Amino acid sequence: MTNIIDGEAVAADIRKSLIDCVSQLGDAGVTPTLATVLMNNDPASQTYVSMKHGDCEEVGIETRDIKLDPDSKEAELFDIVDELNADEAVDGILVQMPLPSHVDERDVLRHITPEKDVDGFHPENVGRLVAGNPRFKPCTPHGIQKLLADAAVETEGADAVVVGRSNIVGKPMANLLMQKNGTGNATVTICHSRTDSLAEKTRAADIVIAAAGVPEMVDGSMLSPGVTVVDVGINRIETEDGSTLVGDVEYESAAKKAQAITPVPGGVGPMTRAMLLWNTVKAAAETASIDITLPWS
Ligand code: NAD
Repeated sequence: MTNIIDGEAVAADIRKSLIDCVSQLGDAGVTPTLATVLMNNDPASQTYVSMKHGDCEEVGIETRDIKLDPDSKEAELFDIVDELNADEAVDGILVQMPLPSHVDERDVLRHITPEKDVDGFHPENVGRLVAGNPRFKPCTPHGIQKLLADAAVETEGADAVVVGRSNIVGKPMANLLMQKNGTGNATVTICHSRTDSLAEKTRAADIVIAAAGVPEMVDGSMLSPGVTVVDVGINRIETEDGSTLVGDVEYESAAKKAQAITPVPGGVGPMTRAMLLWNTVKAAAETASIDITLPWS
C-alpha cells in the first residue's frame, strides 16, 4: 500500500516540539524574534507573510512586520536590513521574494547578516551547506529531509533524482541528499529544463524530488514501482469550476507506482513553514549560546 506522507501532521509535531524549545529559551530570558520585510503588493506574498506570522504566534516566536512601498529605493530596503542586522532583539530576518525589478535580489540576500539569515540563502550559508557544515538549511529541502526521515525512507545508497536546479529548492536539496551522513549518502542526479531523456532518469530513481514548477509533469509512466516521490510544486491551474492547486507530479498515476508520495497540498508546503520556525529558534539559541535540542536535529 502506498504511504501518503502527511506533511501537515509532521509539521504539527515539529511545531509542538518547538513550543518546548521556545519555553526553554524563555526561561533563560530569550524570546526568539523573526522580522519579515515585504516589498511587493502581490496578494500571494502577503498571504505567505501573514501565514508565517500566524505560525510564529502559535509557537511563541515574536514577529516584526515591516512593509515597504514597492516603489521605494533599494537603499531604503538596505537601511531597514541594516537596522534589523544591528537589532539585538531580532534573531531572524526574512525578506519576502519576489522583489521589485529595480532591486537586486542577490545584493539583498548578501546584505542580511549570515547569523540571522533564517532562509539560508546568504552565500556564506550556501557555502557552509555545500561544505557539509550547514548553519541554516533552506526551509523547503530541510523540510523534505525531515519528511523522508519520518517516513523511514532510506537515502543511504539510494539513487535520487532532483528535477529542478533552483537556488532555493533543487540545488540545496541535491546537496543535502549527497552529504556524508545518515540523512544523505544518496547518489544524486540533478535534472533541469535542458535535461535529455528525463523519464529515463526518473525511472532509474529510488527517490524522485519534483521541483520544476510545471503542473503534473512527472507521471506514473516516468516512475518505477517502489519509488518515493516528493512533490514540491505548487501550481494553480484553471478548471471548469474555477481553479485548483496541483503539484509537479500527476498524483493518481504516480501514487500507483510509489511506495510513498507527498500530496499537494499537505505535503512539502507545511514543512517549509515549520522549518522557518525551526531556523528562527536555532538562531535565537545560538546567538544567546543556549544549548537546546531542536526536534530531530
Ligand atoms: P524555479 O522556477 O526557480 O526553478 C524551476 C527549475 O525547474 C529550474 O531549475 C528549471 O531548469 C527546472 N525545469 C523547468 N522546467 C523543466 C522541465 N520541463 N523539465 C525539467 N526541469 C525543468 O522554481 P523553484 O522556486 O525551485 O520552485 C519549483 C516549484 O516548487 C514551483 O512550483 C514552486 O511554486 C514550488 N515551491 C514550493 C515550495 C513549498 O514549500 N512547497 C517551496 C518553494 C517552491
